[in-house]
Amino acid sequence: MGVYFWIPCVARGGDYLLALTDLPTCPGLFYGSQARDGVLSRMRIPGGILNAQQCWTIADLADQYSTGCLQVTNRANLQIREVNSEIAPEVWNRLQELGIASRRVEVDPIRNIMASPTAGIDRQQLLDTRPLVKAWDDYLQTHSELSELSPKFSIGFDGGESVSIQALRNDILLAACGRSTQSGIVFRLHLNGDTGILIQESQCISVLAALASTYLEYTKNRPRIDGKKPRLRHLLADWGVESYLERVQQNLPFLLQLTSCTFPKNSQNASSEKSLPHHRHLGIHPQRQSGFSYMGIALPLGRLESKQLRNLANLAQNLASGTLRLTPWQNLLISDIPNSQLFEVKQQVADLGLHSSATRLDSCLVACAGSSGCASAATDTQSHALAMVRDLAQKLTIDLPINIHFSGCQKSCAQHQPIDITLVGIQIERGDETIEGYDIYAGRKDLPFGRQIFQAVSAIEMPDAIERMLRVYQRFREPVESLGEFVDRQAIDQLQELLSTENRN
Ligand code: SF4
Repeated sequence: MGVYFWIPCVARGGDYLLALTDLPTCPGLFYGSQARDGVLSRMRIPGGILNAQQCWTIADLADQYSTGCLQVTNRANLQIREVNSEIAPEVWNRLQELGIASRRVEVDPIRNIMASPTAGIDRQQLLDTRPLVKAWDDYLQTHSELSELSPKFSIGFDGGESVSIQALRNDILLAACGRSTQSGIVFRLHLNGDTGILIQESQCISVLAALASTYLEYTKNRPRIDGKKPRLRHLLADWGVESYLERVQQNLPFLLQLTSCTFPKNSQNASSEKSLPHHRHLGIHPQRQSGFSYMGIALPLGRLESKQLRNLANLAQNLASGTLRLTPWQNLLISDIPNSQLFEVKQQVADLGLHSSATRLDSCLVACAGSSGCASAATDTQSHALAMVRDLAQKLTIDLPINIHFSGCQKSCAQHQPIDITLVGIQIERGDETIEGYDIYAGRKDLPFGRQIFQAVSAIEMPDAIERMLRVYQRFREPVESLGEFVDRQAIDQLQELLSTENRN
């Protein structure tokens, strides 16, 4: 697991193997990675936006080289799972022509550029960030020195949309915060938190380029950490934000401007409901373009079949603008639907076995790779999560969204804040056996996962424990109260009593 291999590829500009130490640490399109269910090939889709032609090509590729199993990731990449044969070199060229594959192979494993999936269509946005996403991707593709970036070097653009990405993890986040009379829209620079630096829209790419080149200067003589390039967080720990920014300033032709506090301060690490829009984009929402709406469609753990992708692209092409937008919450949107076509779109989506409801247990489900793709995992999170929602869907219905997160270990790669329910994978000793299980947490107040409600529950018993928690919540909550809020206002012994009473009923 996690062993990377080379795929022959003319697009690499030569028929050569990379030295072992240069192999990327993140899966990409040109470098598959071995997961338990087969090879995984990940397409980097800047901003998550695809047109119909790209979707048709990806669906054909998945049919030809795998079992047709696709998955949207939590950086709005699209990956083909269970790849079972070597992809022909001419295919890479076609993918590059269509803009699905990076023009520079070395850029391929660098983390996808994140933006709100409602960029350009959101009624609340300050700015359409799509041109910035494209400009930064073009910069990456045309500056060979940036091939040396850590694959985990991550950038996000937030345009002030209602579907905000500010709570998601990015090394560098540029968050639009207001309009200045002299220079138009202004962004706050976040480096693992708000730096207080304001950046004009026209300066964004230069600042990112200077941040990247200064980071590369830092990495030049630094030893690898556990065999990997030092990350931006290592630089921040060594130098501190202030010293980093002083060095960045030396690489810029203009002065970095410190905020005079005329714009609202927005925290990248806010933990309010507003910062957790796992479900805000699901369902039908009016766009800023009058007469048009977008529809957010739930994909359980981001999974969809090639035929569903193909038919969604057909639908988008026939009834809307032909655009699909992948979200970092592992769902997707069809945008630019004329309001007169909404009923038809909803019907066709249902015919594909998909839905747009936030109040289904599979809508707000998050899981890391788990043991099918990560050597650190104690449990098979993805299978357990899908089996749990299938089981509970037979037994109960919910009327408010419930966010559930499965993590294969304490690192919590897929979700960085406590949400309604978090399950952390563990190995449990039972007699002579070691079995997979979970510690189960709930609530949002306590870091890192909420409060522990159940300890060492086997994977088999876990759905019953979650069912009990959901039933107690539904019976005793206030009318409009999330599960996290309900748990947070209970004393833990009172909650345990309610759960054990439910057990006896
Ligand atoms: S949370 Fe743990 S098990 Fe899951 S992907 Fe991250 S390191 Fe692997």
